Amino acid sequence: MKCPTCGCEKFYVKDDDDEYEIYEFTTLGKNVVFDKALDSQEIPKITNEIHTFCNKCAWNGKFNTLTK
Ligand SMILES: [Zn+2]
Repeated sequence: MKCPTCGCEKFYVKDDDDEYEIYEFTTLGKNVVFDKALDSQEIPKITNEIHTFCNKCAWNGKFNTLTK
Protein backbone atom coordinates (compact mmCIF):
# COMPACT_ATOMS: atom_id res chain seq x y z
CA MET A 1 0.00 0.00 0.00
CA LYS A 2 1.18 3.49 -0.76
CA CYS A 3 0.18 6.99 0.14
CA PRO A 4 -1.89 8.42 -2.75
CA THR A 5 -0.05 11.74 -2.45
CA CYS A 6 3.64 11.01 -1.85
CA GLY A 7 4.00 7.23 -2.36
CA CYS A 8 5.34 6.66 1.14
CA GLU A 9 4.66 3.20 2.59
CA LYS A 10 4.65 4.17 6.22
CA PHE A 11 1.50 5.20 8.01
CA TYR A 12 0.06 5.59 11.44
CA VAL A 13 -3.28 5.53 13.17
CA LYS A 14 -4.29 7.40 16.30
CA ASP A 15 -5.67 6.00 19.50
CA ASP A 16 -9.42 6.61 19.74
CA ASP A 17 -9.07 7.76 23.32
CA ASP A 18 -5.84 9.71 23.06
CA GLU A 19 -4.96 11.54 19.85
CA TYR A 20 -1.35 11.94 20.98
CA GLU A 21 -0.95 8.19 21.07
CA ILE A 22 -0.05 6.95 17.61
CA TYR A 23 0.65 3.53 16.17
CA GLU A 24 3.00 3.39 13.22
CA PHE A 25 2.81 0.63 10.68
CA THR A 26 3.78 -0.31 7.19
CA THR A 27 2.25 -2.83 4.85
CA LEU A 28 3.71 -5.96 3.32
CA GLY A 29 1.39 -7.06 0.58
CA LYS A 30 -1.97 -7.34 2.32
CA ASN A 31 -0.47 -7.55 5.77
CA VAL A 32 -0.23 -4.64 8.15
CA VAL A 33 3.07 -4.67 10.03
CA PHE A 34 3.40 -2.69 13.24
CA ASP A 35 6.62 -1.71 14.92
CA LYS A 36 7.79 -4.62 17.08
CA ALA A 37 8.22 -2.28 20.03
CA LEU A 38 4.49 -1.71 20.25
CA ASP A 39 2.44 -3.62 22.78
CA SER A 40 0.25 -5.93 20.72
CA GLN A 41 -2.49 -5.65 23.34
CA GLU A 42 -2.88 -1.98 22.55
CA ILE A 43 -2.63 -2.04 18.79
CA PRO A 44 -5.89 -1.01 17.16
CA LYS A 45 -7.45 -3.27 14.60
CA ILE A 46 -6.87 -1.95 11.10
CA THR A 47 -10.13 -1.91 9.18
CA ASN A 48 -10.93 -0.48 5.76
CA GLU A 49 -12.61 2.43 7.46
CA ILE A 50 -9.96 3.34 10.00
CA HIS A 51 -8.61 6.88 9.78
CA THR A 52 -5.04 6.51 8.50
CA PHE A 53 -2.31 9.15 8.35
CA CYS A 54 0.74 9.20 6.10
CA ASN A 55 4.00 9.28 8.04
CA LYS A 56 5.65 11.62 5.56
CA CYS A 57 3.11 14.07 4.21
CA ALA A 58 -0.20 15.58 5.26
CA TRP A 59 -2.37 12.94 3.59
CA ASN A 60 -4.93 11.20 5.73
CA GLY A 61 -8.08 9.26 4.98
CA LYS A 62 -9.67 5.86 5.17
CA PHE A 63 -7.35 2.88 5.00
CA ASN A 64 -9.08 1.55 1.89
CA THR A 65 -8.28 4.73 -0.07
CA LEU A 66 -4.53 4.00 0.01
CA THR A 67 -3.01 3.23 -3.37
CA LYS A 68 -2.71 -0.54 -3.78
ZN1 LIG B 1 2.18 10.76 1.95
